[in-house]
Amino acid sequence: MSANLPELPEDPLAEELDSFVRARRLAERYRELDRSPEFPAPEFRAMGQHGWLGLDRSREDGGRGLPLARAGRLLYRLAYRAGTTFAKLSLQPGFASVLGEHGSKELVETYYRRLVRGEVLVGNHLTEPEAGSDLRALATTAEPTATGYLLTGTKSEAAFALDAAWAIVYARVPSGGAKGELTAFLVSQELRGVQRELVPDLGEHWMRRGRVRYDRVAVDSSFRIGEEGAALGYVLPELDRERALLATIYLGVARASWEEVVARVDQRRVFGRPLAEHEAVGFALVEDWAELEATRLYAERTLERMDRRERVDQDAALAKTMATRVALRTIDHAIQFSGGAGYSQELIHEQRWRDVRSGPIAHGSTELLLRTAARRIWRSPSA
Ligand SMILES: Cc1cc2nc3c(=O)[nH]c(=O)nc-3n(C[C@H](O)[C@H](O)[C@H](O)COP(=O)(O)OP(=O)(O)OC[C@H]3O[C@@H](n4cnc5c(N)ncnc54)[C@H](O)[C@@H]3O)c2cc1C
Repeated sequence: MSANLPELPEDPLAEELDSFVRARRLAERYRELDRSPEFPAPEFRAMGQHGWLGLDRSREDGGRGLPLARAGRLLYRLAYRAGTTFAKLSLQPGFASVLGEHGSKELVETYYRRLVRGEVLVGNHLTEPEAGSDLRALATTAEPTATGYLLTGTKSEAAFALDAAWAIVYARVPSGGAKGELTAFLVSQELRGVQRELVPDLGEHWMRRGRVRYDRVAVDSSFRIGEEGAALGYVLPELDRERALLATIYLGVARASWEEVVARVDQRRVFGRPLAEHEAVGFALVEDWAELEATRLYAERTLERMDRRERVDQDAALAKTMATRVALRTIDHAIQFSGGAGYSQELIHEQRWRDVRSGPIAHGSTELLLRTAARRIWRSPSA
């Protein structure tokens, strides 16, 4: 018996992507960054120079201007070849779309386009110690002054807590026209009153997440992004897009583990025959493939519908929910069916599992996303 592996989804940019991954040793860097965590600045810069940041972002802003469905196929491939790190990095301009789509011309030119070129890292500060899923409970305030605002509050769970030069910070202007709804600001992390702290994580070590405290930080009004009180409306479409794109990343990573264990159980003999021929193992891996592929097609269809400007918040939520569930189970099977070696750090599966484990929490937790989907099914008036 020998394993007959399915082809990767095709794309005209696939070969160019593969040679970039090889030239920059991204698969090896994925492993190294887990053991020696740091922000991969040289790779970030190279990705920007070669057009691998912001695949779906407009050409005017320096992106590739690809439809979301194509961006998803390429992210799947990048994650399959080199793990979560560089695929997620590729999405960073998407994670900062509030700046790119609603910032002033000057903010876009000076900061957003430099982010897409890999020259400046912009983080996102939404979550707080007392509020993540429930955005209505966010408490950071932006008190108006003669020239701008004074920001006060604590942001938590933030990726690149120590490494981002700038962050999009969400706060409430208590006296704001829109009844204290969220307002977004672009905030230099070097300003007086900003305190940053690293909090070590289970996986995705390269992200160096942590807490950032803002103690009456003076932000000029030219750094406000869009209108006062309008930021929630800016960020919601971004969340739908990134959920569906992240789904492709988790599935790509899991496919790599699936292929590796499929080959391994073909070689490994137990009780006189290949492990793959023992149905408890072989059938489980066949089911994993069916679910990986079905979920990939679902994510792709969701992205195609987004490209057609259809409303797909429910499907984006479910695509990420399904993708993280299927990916974690597939990688867990790769650990299990590799036996003792699967549990060791000599094999890559444990790193992939730790990294993908962030998926059911970040960018909308599974429970919150199921709530989103349920509200669409039962047509809740507040959906
Ligand atoms: C790797 C990673 C990177 C991240 N990067 C960033 C970042 O850069 N910037 C940023 O702002 N945030 C970031 N986050 C934070 C992330 O968005 C939040 O952790 C997430 O939104 C959940 O919020 P919370 O941690 O406050 O949990 P909570 O909202 O307190 O939720 C705790 C638990 O309760 C469940 N729950 C919540 N509401 C309901 C409900 N109505 N019904 C049932 N169950 C519910 C949740 O699903 C979860 O299991 C990151 C998180 C991770 C893991």
